Amino acid sequence: MHCVALGSRFRIPLWNPVRKKAFTVAKLFYSSSSYHCAPSSVKLLSLLSDVRPLTTMENFWTSGSVDKNKRMVESLQRYGIIKSKKVSEVMEKIDRGLFVQSDTPAYVDSPMQIGYNATISAPHMHATCLELLKEHLQPGMRALDVGSGTGYLTACFAIMVGSQGCAVGVEHIPELASFSIENIKKSSASSLFEGSLWVHVTDGRLGWAELAPYDAIHVGAAAPEIPNALIEQLKPGGRMVIPVGTILQDLKVIDKKLDGSLSIRTETSVRYVPLTSKDAQLRG
Ligand code: SAH
Repeated sequence: MHCVALGSRFRIPLWNPVRKKAFTVAKLFYSSSSYHCAPSSVKLLSLLSDVRPLTTMENFWTSGSVDKNKRMVESLQRYGIIKSKKVSEVMEKIDRGLFVQSDTPAYVDSPMQIGYNATISAPHMHATCLELLKEHLQPGMRALDVGSGTGYLTACFAIMVGSQGCAVGVEHIPELASFSIENIKKSSASSLFEGSLWVHVTDGRLGWAELAPYDAIHVGAAAPEIPNALIEQLKPGGRMVIPVGTILQDLKVIDKKLDGSLSIRTETSVRYVPLTSKDAQLRG
């Protein structure tokens, strides 16, 4: 059996549900002869399966946006990315279509350009991060979303922690912060805006000390190293989810124990835009 190696531009994220399915298919295909499936053949199967991605359900393109959002959530559940009711509920409530430009295919499982060399993360990454953080996003808790971009996850956090909690988005591109505020105001989180949901223009590497400590910190851009300020602003018992690395990046899950010590593990390999200075980002 010859394996076809595909160029890196065809690579799809590890967490892509289509890839997950293809991997299962590949495993089944080869298991009868105890053959260990080579990554390149997994990649090929991924690509072939990709012909019918998450979004290609009957009547998909003709249904309304709320419908499409619901179907996107159902697909993520089917592929095991969304595991809990909490996460499916909040992703159903916050319509992803409100957080991208109207000509963007909002419900396709892929990151999308939002301008200023930034992207909205793919739905499966949003779902993964919500799953990882859900126990730290209980009603009344505090959440910080660093590199909040479109405001999608900030809105989800705000819904989860409710009016007694607080969700803070920090973004260093003022135009993106304004865009996110417009989006949030159109969404189900609108009534929480400037009550328990805030968006600030600042360098996210410094966090947002005013409302620290946080039960949950999410970082939406890859840091070369975990910023100290964010570790300091994490509450004992709290959790941070942060992509770390430059070219090769890992999604790290950092738990601060009650004695202040940290436990750090890698969830998966990822590809995010860098957590950097505003100038470096705009220069691309
Ligand atoms: N979770 C967001 C991700 C947006 S992309 C979403 O899905 O919409 C990452 C974001 O991080 C971009 O908006 C970028 O402008 C922002 N960013 C990068 N470096 C930053 C920094 N130092 N401070 C604040 N925001 C930063």
